[in-house]
Amino acid sequence: MPKQNFRKANALERDKKQYHVLLLESDESFSCALKGTIESRLPVSVTIVRDVEMARKVLTLNTSKFFIGITSILNLDSSEFEKVDLLGEFNVPVIAIVHYYEDKMRDQLIKHHVIDYVIKDSAVHGVYICDLISRIYKNCAVQVMVVDDSMVSRFLIVRELKLQKFEVLQASNGAQALDILNQNPNIKLILVDNQMPNMDGYTLTEKIRVMYSKDTLVIIGISSSSDPRITVKFLKSGANDFIAKPFNYEMLLCRVTQNLDMLDAVTLARRLSNTDFLSGLYNRRYFFEQGNKLLQAVNNGDSLTVMMFDIDFFKKINDNYGHDIGDEVIKNFASLLKSHFSNDIVARIGGEEFAVISTSNQYMSDFSNIEHFRQIVANQTLKLKQWNVQYTCSIGVCNVINSNLDLMMNQADKNLYRAKQAGRNQVCIDAANNLATSKAND
Ligand code: GH3
Ligand code: MG
Ligand code: MG
Repeated sequence: MPKQNFRKANALERDKKQYHVLLLESDESFSCALKGTIESRLPVSVTIVRDVEMARKVLTLNTSKFFIGITSILNLDSSEFEKVDLLGEFNVPVIAIVHYYEDKMRDQLIKHHVIDYVIKDSAVHGVYICDLISRIYKNCAVQVMVVDDSMVSRFLIVRELKLQKFEVLQASNGAQALDILNQNPNIKLILVDNQMPNMDGYTLTEKIRVMYSKDTLVIIGISSSSDPRITVKFLKSGANDFIAKPFNYEMLLCRVTQNLDMLDAVTLARRLSNTDFLSGLYNRRYFFEQGNKLLQAVNNGDSLTVMMFDIDFFKKINDNYGHDIGDEVIKNFASLLKSHFSNDIVARIGGEEFAVISTSNQYMSDFSNIEHFRQIVANQTLKLKQWNVQYTCSIGVCNVINSNLDLMMNQADKNLYRAKQAGRNQVCIDAANNLATSKAND
C-alpha cells in the first residue's frame, strides 16, 4: 500500500443525502462494520449489494447516483475483477479491498483502473478508506492542468487524473497553457513536460512563477530523461517537484496528492495566521497588512474609509452574565459586522474592539449605512442561556485619506473616544474637515 499523506476526512461538508457509496461485498458482517465506520466518519450514505447481479440492477436504476464504489478482491480470478469492471462501466471509481498483497495483484488492480487499494487485515483499513473517499470528493473541486506536446503521453496522464476525479485541463504548448491559466486562475497543480516546441517546460515554469508563488500553485516538471541536471533546472525554475518518464502512475498520483496536501497545509496555516480564533474575523495583523495595500493603491478621487467600533460597557456584560456570555456577544457582534459590511475588510483588532476598512464611494458623503449598523446592534435582543441580552456600540469614523493607515486609525480612534465621551451608542465622523456626530435617539 502506498504511503500517502491524507487530507482530512472532514472534507465532505455538503448534504449527506447527495453522496452515496456503493459497497459490493458478500461478507455480511464485514460490510455492515465498514458501512458503520464510513457513515459515522463521513456525511455519506453507503448502499450494500451482495453480488454483481444485484450491483448491476442497482447501478442501472440509479445511474450517476454513486460517487464511489468499494469492493473486495479475494484472489486473481478474472471473476473477481468483474466487480471492478462493472463499476467502471457505470463510471464509478473503485476502491479495492484486497486480502493479501503481491505484485501480480497490484498490477491487475492498476490494469483495471482502481483508484487505490487497501489490505483487508490492516487494522486501519476503515480509516484509510474514509480518508480516500474524502480525498476523492475533495479532488472534484480541484482543477489541474497537463501541459505536454505529446498527445499519447498527455492522454495517459489525463486519464489517471480523471480517474481520481480531478477536473483536468490540457494544453499542448506553453502559450496555450498560459492562456488556459489566465482563464482558470484557480488551477491548483500543473504537470509540465520539459521538451516542447516554442517554449520549453523551464521557461513556462518561470513565466507561471511570476504570477503564482510555490505555495499557491504546484508545478511538477516531467521529463523523459532522468538526467539529474534536468531535475535541478526544473526546481531552479520554480517547480515544486519533478518526475522522470516513464513513471508508474501510482507514483505520479502519490506525488500529486502529496504536493496538494502541502498546499492545503500552507493555505490552512495562512488562514489561521490571518484569523481571530474567537470571532472568525481577520485579525489585527492582517487588517493592517491589507489596509496598507489598499491605501497604497488609492488614486486621486478614490474613497477610503476607516471605522473603529467598541462595544459599550462590555466589562459589565462579563460581570453580569459571565465571560462565556461575553464571548457570545463578541461572536454576535462579529457576525453582524461581517454581514453588514460584507464587501469590506472587517477585523477584530482587540478584546471588544473591531475595525472596518472600506473603499466604497458611498462614504464620501453619506454615512447613514454606519448609523444604520449602530441601530441594528442597539435594537436587537440576544437570547443567551436564561438571559435576554442587549448591548450597544460606539463608532469612530475617518475618511480623510492619509498616506499612513496608522494616522487614519488614530483619527478614527479619536472620534471613537468622542463618541464614548458624548454618552456612547453613537457614531462620530471626521469627514473631510466636517465633524459630525450621529446620536442615538432610539
Ligand atoms: P467602554 O464602554 O468604555 O468601552 O467600557 P468597556 O467595559 O467596554 O471597556 P473596558 O476596556 O473597560 O473593558 C473591556 C473588557 O473586555 C475587559 C476585558 O476583560 C474584556 N474582554 C477582552 N477580551 C475579551 C474576550 O475575548 N472575551 C470576553 N468575554 N471578554 C473580553
Ligand atoms: Mg468597550
Ligand atoms: Mg475597549
